[in-house]
Amino acid sequence: MMKKIIQQLTSSNRVLLASHVNPDGDAIGALLATGIGLEKLGCEVVLYNESAIPAVYRFLPSVDNIQKQLTDLERFDTAVILDCGDLSRVGSAADSIATIPVIINIDHHTTNTRFGQYHLVDVDACATSEIVYRLIQAMGIEMDTAMATAIYTGILTDTGSFRFSNTNQAAFSTCEAMVAMGVKPSTVAQHVYGTYSLGRIKLLNLALDSIEISNNGHFSIMTVTREMLADTGTQPEDADGLINYARRIQDVKVAALIHELENGNGPSDGRKRFHVSLRSDGSVDVSRIASDFGGGGHAGAAGFSVVSSLTELKRTIYSLSDGFCGTCHLN
Ligand code: 5GP
Ligand code: MN
Repeated sequence: MMKKIIQQLTSSNRVLLASHVNPDGDAIGALLATGIGLEKLGCEVVLYNESAIPAVYRFLPSVDNIQKQLTDLERFDTAVILDCGDLSRVGSAADSIATIPVIINIDHHTTNTRFGQYHLVDVDACATSEIVYRLIQAMGIEMDTAMATAIYTGILTDTGSFRFSNTNQAAFSTCEAMVAMGVKPSTVAQHVYGTYSLGRIKLLNLALDSIEISNNGHFSIMTVTREMLADTGTQPEDADGLINYARRIQDVKVAALIHELENGNGPSDGRKRFHVSLRSDGSVDVSRIASDFGGGGHAGAAGFSVVSSLTELKRTIYSLSDGFCGTCHLN
């Protein structure tokens, strides 16, 4: 498959590169590294992401080349979709992107639907950025510090700073190679984890205060409402990583972060749109729970979106904890 993908990319004139809405460090890192690499081959590339790039990732090289709008769709030979379990994860442009003649799917989510003509899907990869590094090497593209910074950031953030269960040998060996290319770990860490606004820290305070625990102590729920964002002057991106606090509690197997989304054209009957993030301690496969709700992800980290009332949603999530000892176990 790798060979065919390389053939396809080297024979393409204009390539669209896209990653998932509300991008994390891996979605952005993989997008930038692939973009810089293909440009070195003389390809015309367009980098696309529907959402704004979170402030903590705006230090990354070439980040200003990422577009939020798509034009001249008919002029693309190929689309490379990065870090997306299914094509709809790119957002509202999914249907238009589906008309591009060849789609290459590069991803590491267990729930990947194998969309597109070509797949480079490795569910054992620590990050999509790791797979991108392998592709860049296989294509004989010379690495530089800009690409290395993007790949390092992708792996650092997707492994939760080398703490999550996807942290494997390749996470370290790839990052070691990136450091050898000139990446400074302390500089990246300072940008990603050390430049929070005061509002973001205040939001952490409200989010911690919202934590509730199920009767059996195995399930925690944290809630971030639009009101909390307004009160602290923060953006949805400022909720990134908050869920890890809910997961760190002793005896908690699964943590859920209920994130109220902008209502947009949503229902006017009191129900709202929510994104639910799930994290597990390793004993429960949360990607299966997320899939049941039309989402997806990894065994240890997954998510889905729903329209519901907050009370109803909490009730639904708590009722899931009864299934823990049955279908949801990893082993
Ligand atoms: P988060 O909870 O941080 O949004 O996402 C955790 C993991 O689940 C990420 O790998 C993310 O790509 C995936 N994920 C989150 N929401 C969805 C969703 O609605 N659909 C799918 N397929 N994956 C999701
Ligand atoms: Mn990823």
